[in-house]
Amino acid sequence: MAKIGFIGLGHMGNPMARNLTKAKHDVHVFDLDQSAIDTAVKAGCIAAASALEAATAKDFIITMLPAGKQVRSILLGDNGLMAQLTEPSFFIDCSTVDIATALGLHAAATVNGHSVLDAPVSGGVTGAESRTLTFMVGGLVDAFEKAKPILACMGKNIFHAGAATHGQAAKMCNNLMLGIHMIGTSEAFILAEKLGLSAETLHQIASASSGQSWALSKYCPAPILPGTPACNNYKAGFAAAMMLKDLNLAIEAAHHCDTSLPLTEKAGYLYDDFCKEHADVDFSGIIEFLKTR
Ligand code: NAD
Repeated sequence: MAKIGFIGLGHMGNPMARNLTKAKHDVHVFDLDQSAIDTAVKAGCIAAASALEAATAKDFIITMLPAGKQVRSILLGDNGLMAQLTEPSFFIDCSTVDIATALGLHAAATVNGHSVLDAPVSGGVTGAESRTLTFMVGGLVDAFEKAKPILACMGKNIFHAGAATHGQAAKMCNNLMLGIHMIGTSEAFILAEKLGLSAETLHQIASASSGQSWALSKYCPAPILPGTPACNNYKAGFAAAMMLKDLNLAIEAAHHCDTSLPLTEKAGYLYDDFCKEHADVDFSGIIEFLKTR
């Protein structure tokens, strides 16, 4: 049994922390939102009064925060956990963040002899709840091997993507495909409706044809798959603002390496427009926005 500090108990973090307790680990949790802590405590986690309390004297410290800004504020700088914890500690950041933030974590780790992995995930809230997340991990092989049994309590596919930041690199490449697929899938269902083809029939045919994708088969934007946000009034799930964030991370990374991503940029414009009024809506809700254009 490991002692784990878990910080960030939102859509993803809460079910992930719960799965760690189900695997009999000692999970000490912190979030700015007391109701998120209460939910985790009901599932067997132990409440901490601060991020520092959650992280002190733990075998692993897992962060699942919205973006680089929150990760930097919790972990980096003079008041960050990496400076505050003088004993060597093991940090696993599962948030999706920019390459510079991930690099900053790996660099800061050397100061107090900490270990760090960037370990973003794919699979959404359903994957977090059903323990079927995919982890994309960047960092030293030894650290990866040590963390793997812990990550396996929350996910099914645990990949070592490579050196520091390669987990985030894999995640942003994956999500730029997802963002584009979701728009393409939405456009297909909009056109099908105009042509009198039923959504169910298109889903059945395309799922067995070359238009198949995760956006189509597991997260269809048309309301035909029970349990998806589309069948729940597009309640997130994976908020549109998070998808916009991920597309912007990819665009920013591409600029840094002199690469152009024209379709990702177009998808970014569409999500940016959608987010002006619907940032909290699930990203698959972009189908309703595209119908109005
Ligand atoms: P969320 O907004 O639901 O949860 C984030 C949690 O962090 C919130 O509970 C918030 O109160 C807490 N928080 C923010 N600042 C904090 C601080 N300073 N101290 C303590 N707690 C703080 O986000 P989410 O959907 O759970 O996503 C988390 C991360 O996972 C993001 O980086 C996202 O891109 C990534 N992700 C999300 C999904 C998804 O389907 N939701 C899928 C894959 C990856």
